[in-house]
Amino acid sequence: MIHPHLPGDVTDRIVMVEGSGCRLRDAHGREYLDATGGLLLAHVGHGRRDLAEVAAGQMTKLEYYSSFHEFTNEPSIRLAEKLIDLAPSPMERVYFTSGGGEAVDAALRMARLYHHRRGEPERTWILARNFGYHGVSYGGAAATGMPMFHQGFGPMLPNVRHLTPPMPFHPEMYGGEDPTEFCLRELRETIEEIGADRIAVMIGEPILGVAGVIEPPSDYWPRVRELLASHGILLILDEVITAFGRTGHWFAAERLGVAPDFVVTAKGLTSGYFPMGALLVADRVVDVVARDEGFIGGYTYGGHATGCAVALANLEIMERENLLAAAVDVGDHLGAQLRRLEELPIVGQVRQIGLMIGIELAQDPDTGEPLSAGWVPPLVRERSGIIVRNNPNTVLVSPPLVMSHDEADQVAAAVTDVLTEYA
Ligand code: PLP
Repeated sequence: MIHPHLPGDVTDRIVMVEGSGCRLRDAHGREYLDATGGLLLAHVGHGRRDLAEVAAGQMTKLEYYSSFHEFTNEPSIRLAEKLIDLAPSPMERVYFTSGGGEAVDAALRMARLYHHRRGEPERTWILARNFGYHGVSYGGAAATGMPMFHQGFGPMLPNVRHLTPPMPFHPEMYGGEDPTEFCLRELRETIEEIGADRIAVMIGEPILGVAGVIEPPSDYWPRVRELLASHGILLILDEVITAFGRTGHWFAAERLGVAPDFVVTAKGLTSGYFPMGALLVADRVVDVVARDEGFIGGYTYGGHATGCAVALANLEIMERENLLAAAVDVGDHLGAQLRRLEELPIVGQVRQIGLMIGIELAQDPDTGEPLSAGWVPPLVRERSGIIVRNNPNTVLVSPPLVMSHDEADQVAAAVTDVLTEYA
């Protein structure tokens, strides 16, 4: 695939030109219903004048100024305070970036620096998980547990080990053992093998997103956290998808009952109205990385005044319009309809948490291989103008949090029609 941002042949692309709420229109005037939220981020819906006005107001006052050294700006101070207020556990500082991958990189770098400054420079190993997705920066891609993000790009960041995440729907992965016990045993053995005194940090998505909306058993994260803490290993929760309402909470960590050292966010922070990420850092880490010469490594656009003003206004809209409750209400409504698809022979499992939904297809009875889901989104779109996505074997549905019941019914009907016809 040629990258869409580069010039080239765009005749086979759908050129989106307009959006309002969950509706989109392309350059040919064709209308769509967005059931992916762009890339899981248009929480407050498309085309909002209120956010455009906030951006214009900030741009005409002060569009940007460097956040380096002795400088900062008002919106970034207010946004940092807001994020610390909303944080799932006590957080001390916020480090702003232009997106999720940059924030993942910053977290990995801070984790190594933390140990270095504390006199343990040999703690460089990063534990990550198979099927996890953390972006395409070198740090993020190295932590990503999908081979296609490594092959041809090597050598990747060294000292990264991928572990098995619990995926209870696939007991075959655990050779008869309980998935959580398997994963904890593997983690213990890995710590023993590498040596706790050489491991800096573990990174994971609280709920696997791109891999197909897979929530671990409730005791997994607390037990992982406890084990890591007992060895002085830090924990990064990558909440790029899950933060800011998608699961019905400000952060999925609230569901997990763990207090991480870092929380990585992006996407819903601005609902896509500005490219931004934010890394929340706990006091324990800040105390170390902020001392001496501080954390060396800032991005030019970190703490962008306009971006921060837009993010603040976006979070205010989410509060005013009760979008966290809406994610649960509309998500459950949509999920209940989609779960009926489990009766079809081609559907394996339907998983729904708030407005994060994965419809995993079954195994092919002839080959035993997972059925590919790649044919579903184009068919759904051609027939009904509804946009859904897929990973290799799961249809992913993640609409804006402003989706109405009526629109959710249309999504359920369109996906149901296509899957039923081909079952
Ligand atoms: N982490 C997770 C969990 C993601 O889903 C993504 C993007 O989808 C990223 C990190 C990377 O974010 P970005 O594409 O903004 O760099």
